[in-house]
Amino acid sequence: MYRSVGMRPGDSAKAPQIASATVIEEAERRGLRTGIITTTTLTHATPAAFFAHHEDRTQESDIAKFFVDMPERIQGSDGVDVAFAGGAKYFTPEQLAQLEARGVVVSNEWDGSMMPGFKQVLRLLAETGLPGATERMANKVGVPGLFYMIQSALFTLSDGNDKGFFLLVEGGQIDWKLHGLDTSTALIDEILDLDNAVGIALRYAREHEDTLVIVTADHDHTLSVLDNHYGFTRDQCGVAKRCGGDVEFEEMFAKGPYEIHRGTGFGARDLQGEFKAPKVILQYAWPVQAANQIKRRAGPHSANFVPLFAYGPGADQFAGFHQQPEIGQKLISWAKGQQP
Ligand SMILES: [Zn+2]
Repeated sequence: MYRSVGMRPGDSAKAPQIASATVIEEAERRGLRTGIITTTTLTHATPAAFFAHHEDRTQESDIAKFFVDMPERIQGSDGVDVAFAGGAKYFTPEQLAQLEARGVVVSNEWDGSMMPGFKQVLRLLAETGLPGATERMANKVGVPGLFYMIQSALFTLSDGNDKGFFLLVEGGQIDWKLHGLDTSTALIDEILDLDNAVGIALRYAREHEDTLVIVTADHDHTLSVLDNHYGFTRDQCGVAKRCGGDVEFEEMFAKGPYEIHRGTGFGARDLQGEFKAPKVILQYAWPVQAANQIKRRAGPHSANFVPLFAYGPGADQFAGFHQQPEIGQKLISWAKGQQP
């Protein structure tokens, strides 16, 4: 449901939306351990969709309540076990005290040590989103790169755990930089930050053969770091218009600070892995995004396919093309203990 989190269409006008199952709640119900890491806020749309139910994703203080009262709402749940995120401003001191009272270590600072015996940890490391990856990875701001957060979370979640766990990791500021049409190294650093996290996850999965790692995006953007689009033809960058079977190509030129890579589509060597540095490519929907920015509106995402990589047992279920809800359904089936 557009703008909502953890909701599905209801069956009457009185209840146009009703709560749907979420992955973390179902995993908690079965006594699995659960974790969330995001560079945005703990109550932002992506993490919220894994544990909350609200018709309006922007109501982050309401969404915080779902995090805090999970053990009361979900039978068998002791709440999310590990959470490293921004968004401190959405939690009240009373709510944090409530979490501490049930044994959660609550802090707004990063403690690099991975302490066994920390059964449950909540680190709200910024009032809103975390500092950018450039600052975090340079060790300048007291908040580390995703690399260290995921390492610590995996340690805590697997410590003395034989039932299994679910960990959501979101490199959520890639989207924020893309909305700002930011083609500087700040964008590349956000992607590298996530890439490092994927590396740690894969290393863990190689050592623990019962672990499935899934890497994907919830949507594409109008900027892309590698060309995965079909709107490019030889030496052209522009808007592809399809009409009656013919594709008409309207060339566009971007002015300003954006470095446009004028590649030769899939034939270009530098799009086939031989490039020395990541390149930012402006995609065909870019004029729409730029126009929105001039009007001071948030730019739109693009409707292109996004890749999904999976490694480990069950990875083969993700081969081929899928509608996005199918990915969530597979995760819910797993969380419920059903063999998908
Ligand atoms: Zn976005």
